[in-house]
Amino acid sequence: MKDKKTALNTLCVHAGELEDKQFKGAISPLYMSTSYAFEDVDVKRYPRNFNTPNQEALSRQIAALEHGEKALVFGSGMAAISTALMAFLHHGDHVVFQKALYGGTFNLVMEEFDKFGITYSFTQGPAPEDFEACIRENTKVLFLETPSNPLLSITDVEAVAGIARKHGLISMLDNTFASPVNQNPIVLGIDIVIHSATKYLGGHSDILAGAVVGSDAHIDKIFQLGKNLGGNLSDFTVWLLERSIKTLGLRVKAQNRNAKKLARFLEKHPDVSAVYYPGLKSHPDYALARKQMKGFGGMLSFELREGLDARLFMKELRLIKPSMSLAGVESTISSPMLTSHALLSEEDRKVQGISDELLRFSVGIEDKKDLVNDITRALDKVAARCADKV
Ligand code: PLP
Repeated sequence: MKDKKTALNTLCVHAGELEDKQFKGAISPLYMSTSYAFEDVDVKRYPRNFNTPNQEALSRQIAALEHGEKALVFGSGMAAISTALMAFLHHGDHVVFQKALYGGTFNLVMEEFDKFGITYSFTQGPAPEDFEACIRENTKVLFLETPSNPLLSITDVEAVAGIARKHGLISMLDNTFASPVNQNPIVLGIDIVIHSATKYLGGHSDILAGAVVGSDAHIDKIFQLGKNLGGNLSDFTVWLLERSIKTLGLRVKAQNRNAKKLARFLEKHPDVSAVYYPGLKSHPDYALARKQMKGFGGMLSFELREGLDARLFMKELRLIKPSMSLAGVESTISSPMLTSHALLSEEDRKVQGISDELLRFSVGIEDKKDLVNDITRALDKVAARCADKV
């Protein structure tokens, strides 16, 4: 399954799979053993060494989807992010992070980096010049996230990857929101791609996992630290994730289609004052998203018009579930003000463009008309209740 011409859904179903030589079953067998022979074997296997049969199978599958040489699978997205960063950063080094950054990555930096003597800068915005302006003599890594959470801003991946190469830096990109179906950063020049596999790769809101993908040399470097930190995934979950990825292409393409239709519907709704979706022509980065993405994704954000209470709106939804996480086959919604950005002051939220009425919508694979009906009904209810209060 290493053929470069093999198409997406075929890779999803077959890349990396283990052959069941004993019983000729159709799917990868699950090897739960944590103990393997050490004599007369080609590889000494141990789960923390990322080399059980199922870990290797899943890594081959994810590497193939991201067009990388090698991958490693971790127990969470944050285990993947922290191990990748720390593998390339030493005491005295500096790292540049994109300003719009997942809250957990931001917390890792703010709460842990000082004690390792690692310094950092956050860019002013997502423009390539903003990254270049932050580079210092001791900078080692540029870290990007696009589309960003929750406002779906788009960073020019090829341009920032070029800047990293020009300065001899490692570029890392958190590709969680796009998924490998919609964006392949390695093809755009990025060195290391990271996923919270808890999101689209898992896709059913029942797996916590992470992954890194890159060249043999870069992944070997991450492996050296990873085996010492020990943030591995249990083989049962590894097997379940391989199973989940078989439908990744189908799921994400359905989510892309639904999200685009819902973004258009919300954009026209009189009770909605703003919609943030890179697949809308009104999005400031629409042209860039078209250039570097194969699909616009299943995530969008929107704001209710002034006077409508976002919390009440979420309570009135019957099908779309208010929920912290995202990217499952079921549609979920969250308020950044109450969840991911709750710890920021009102002032800081304003600076980042996150209003109290902003809602982040993870569009699932349900039928579009049922999602539209759910939103319409909830908006009508909340508009009536908010009018009563006036
Ligand atoms: N990156 C992004 C963009 C995320 O949204 C998340 C989780 O929400 C993570 C990384 C962290 O992943 P995990 O929760 O699997 O550790």
